[in-house]
Amino acid sequence: MKSRTRVVVIGGGIAGCSTLYHLTQEGWSDVVLVERNELTSGTTWHSAAQVTNFGVTPTMLGLKSHSIRLYKELSEDPDFPINYHHGDGGIRLANSESLMDGYRHFASQAKGMGVNFEILDAEECARRHPLITTENLVGGLWDPLDGDIDPAQLCQALVRRARKAGAEVYRHTPVTGLTQRPDDSWIVHTEKGDIDCEIVVNACGYRVNEVGAMMGVHHPVMSMEHQYFLTEPIAELVERVTRVPLLRCPFYDFYSRQEKKGLLIGFYEQACKTWGMDGIDPNFVNALCPSDTDRVLPVLENVFRRMPVLQEIGIHTIVSGPITYSVDGAPLVGPIPGKRNAFCIIGLRAGLGEGGGHGWLLAQQIVHGDACYDTWVIDPRRFTGHANVELCALKAIEEYQNEFRFLYPHEDRPAGRPVKTTPLTPVLAAEGAEFGVVNGWERMAYIKPSPDFHETHSFRFNEVFQVVADEVAAVQTGVGLTEVNGFNRFEITGAGAHDWLDRMMCGKVTRKVGKVGLGYLLNHHGNVKTEATLANLDATTIWYGSAAASEYHDMDWLQMHLPQDGSVQIRSLTNEHTILVLAGPKAREVLSSVSRGDWSAKAFPWLSVRRAFVGIAPAVVMSVSFSGELAYEIHVPNNQLYAAYLALRKAGAEHGMRLFGSHAVESMRLEKGYRQWKADLITEFNPFESGLDRFVDLSKPDFIGKDALLKMNATGPRRKLVSMVLDCTHAPTQPGDRILQDGRAVGAVTSSGWGYRTGKNIALGYIEPAFAAPGCEVMVEVVGKPISAKVVPECLYDPDNARVRA
Ligand SMILES: Cc1cc2nc3c(=O)[nH]c(=O)nc-3n(C[C@H](O)[C@H](O)[C@H](O)COP(=O)(O)OP(=O)(O)OC[C@H]3O[C@@H](n4cnc5c(N)ncnc54)[C@H](O)[C@@H]3O)c2cc1C
Repeated sequence: MKSRTRVVVIGGGIAGCSTLYHLTQEGWSDVVLVERNELTSGTTWHSAAQVTNFGVTPTMLGLKSHSIRLYKELSEDPDFPINYHHGDGGIRLANSESLMDGYRHFASQAKGMGVNFEILDAEECARRHPLITTENLVGGLWDPLDGDIDPAQLCQALVRRARKAGAEVYRHTPVTGLTQRPDDSWIVHTEKGDIDCEIVVNACGYRVNEVGAMMGVHHPVMSMEHQYFLTEPIAELVERVTRVPLLRCPFYDFYSRQEKKGLLIGFYEQACKTWGMDGIDPNFVNALCPSDTDRVLPVLENVFRRMPVLQEIGIHTIVSGPITYSVDGAPLVGPIPGKRNAFCIIGLRAGLGEGGGHGWLLAQQIVHGDACYDTWVIDPRRFTGHANVELCALKAIEEYQNEFRFLYPHEDRPAGRPVKTTPLTPVLAAEGAEFGVVNGWERMAYIKPSPDFHETHSFRFNEVFQVVADEVAAVQTGVGLTEVNGFNRFEITGAGAHDWLDRMMCGKVTRKVGKVGLGYLLNHHGNVKTEATLANLDATTIWYGSAAASEYHDMDWLQMHLPQDGSVQIRSLTNEHTILVLAGPKAREVLSSVSRGDWSAKAFPWLSVRRAFVGIAPAVVMSVSFSGELAYEIHVPNNQLYAAYLALRKAGAEHGMRLFGSHAVESMRLEKGYRQWKADLITEFNPFESGLDRFVDLSKPDFIGKDALLKMNATGPRRKLVSMVLDCTHAPTQPGDRILQDGRAVGAVTSSGWGYRTGKNIALGYIEPAFAAPGCEVMVEVVGKPISAKVVPECLYDPDNARVRA
């Protein structure tokens, strides 16, 4: 066994084997995989091993396409062919038009990425799968490439290729401890000796937290017991030459695929169980959980309704095993928050289908820092301290119960809520607030017009439309108040702070005390990493503000690049402060009546910051606006938030002040063309492509990403972010939907919604540069149908910013 290597991958299931293989593909051959027992002896060996292409985000879809391409290639390797039923096809069933709307959107997104799903009616579903009835069926989504693979052969094939490229694999080598050296390298302690390495990867499946604990980390992953049945042969399948397609049923909670001449049927029962919450028997190896047919009987009844022939068919095998879930159901593939040189590929609920792609994206992150797709949807840093073991259990149960049910726009599921609140949460709830969730925080979405108001989540405009319209009107004509909780806020201090930030950001960094500036941080490839507001409270105290979800992400990036000489310090205030946003033409009058000082446009112009009192509450006030109206961000410590709120409410009452929520904010920022981090600003594009030219200063001697940006710039933009206006009123387009020119996909939507002040259906999206000029006519798909649209100037509302400067 080697005593020194570059990367140690811990765990020899599909996650570890795929990572090892892809590291060698990225050119790193001095890499090792250690496995406590035999390869695939965790969950992988007994997986139903279906491989599907469906993904709700471009990244998930893209990585699954990679798996399919890779598995096909492996299956055709003349030296070591493996069993892969490629292209049996699969149907996701729907019992409502609103589910079909979702499929129409996902099909549009997929087509833009070269994946041809088909929308089927109920009869066509039954024609393609001869065992199903059309009872309670509206239609389905056809995925032509669905299939299943032999999991053990797949892992062996990956490892075989990795070994050929120089990687080594040590079986029966349990990792017993991890020690990080002062230089951030690691010692991996195993039962067979220590291995020094630069980087460790946790790919330990359901034992993820045993290995996590070795580095003092709790990973937000929980295992669930999951069962499938294998049936006796079915006459109809015995007679058929071709195999029947896979089935996924989001409302009857089952899946199936052909296994020999019978079916494999898997269950997502409502009465489901977590597994291993209080520890796992060390001897649970190549093992199964006890089967429990009673638990799945209600699902089985539904399976019989869908496939009546099964009522006559016997069951010959039951498989029950642990399957892992994260808090939002998507895996955690990337850097481990708060740790250096440590990565994970964990929480895989569909690891056989996705594992090829996840290993690919992880290897790219390890070797190059970022991957070809933006990996935020699988980034381990998207959950912060709140994702403890109890929340993980509740969310894993909920995810399991909702398997195959995609989330509708603006939908957040209820389990474990509220997680993070401020003193205002119950106050706003009493005012009728409906909440959404941002990084665990309950964020006010809108105020319900009546206590029994209920939103029907949909891909079309729904009953919330008018509610938001009224909130926007109040902000536009008078004044509104909203709470922005969880906003990421770091206090950066020290004599070297500005010089250091100047190197971190690609544009000018304002040093003037009392001034606020917006700026962008690039990765080493010159693409957009994050967006931050810098507010100079005094000569050496800067508040760095960024999106609520970016707390761990930004902290890791900043810490990683801190000067070694101690000239800069960072402290997070994210969980200690909350923002109250006062917006609208009467905002100044309200603020002036509760806060001493001169708040006139002359004394406190747009992009200013000042410490003040709001009533009796200490606050940091910034004149910045995400709405395009005159606005103030009032940052208040949480213990005096209620006091500040009461003062503002009282003063606002005289001016007809209304509460408004995040939906109204979203609408107004679209009209201004302001970008949203991780919707419009992603690591796939550089700041010029993202339309951030005015925030880049190439005359600066240096900043992170500058060389790469210069090189990219020389070859011209790959795509350009544009604003578009759509010629329809029934529905918004959705992120991922195709932008078409002469029937060809020339771009994809990144964010969208109705602009109430402009009366326009707006979308932002990346488009080929040839079609990016304002005035260019394109088509944009809206719930699956192409709609005429026009590229417009990015700012549709008050382009001169007269209102924010007023
Ligand atoms: C019943 C069932 C059906 C499923 N069906 C499908 C399906 O149809 N399609 C699909 O895509 N997915 C399916 N899945 C999920 C899929 O099987 C898993 O997502 C996948 O196998 C997880 O792989 P993994 O590598 O993350 O974990 P594992 O396969 O569990 O591998 C982790 C490895 O880490 C090793 N390890 C742990 N601790 C240590 C240590 N201290 N030192 C060294 N090694 C260690 C373990 O021994 C193990 O081999 C199913 C799961 C179940 C339970």
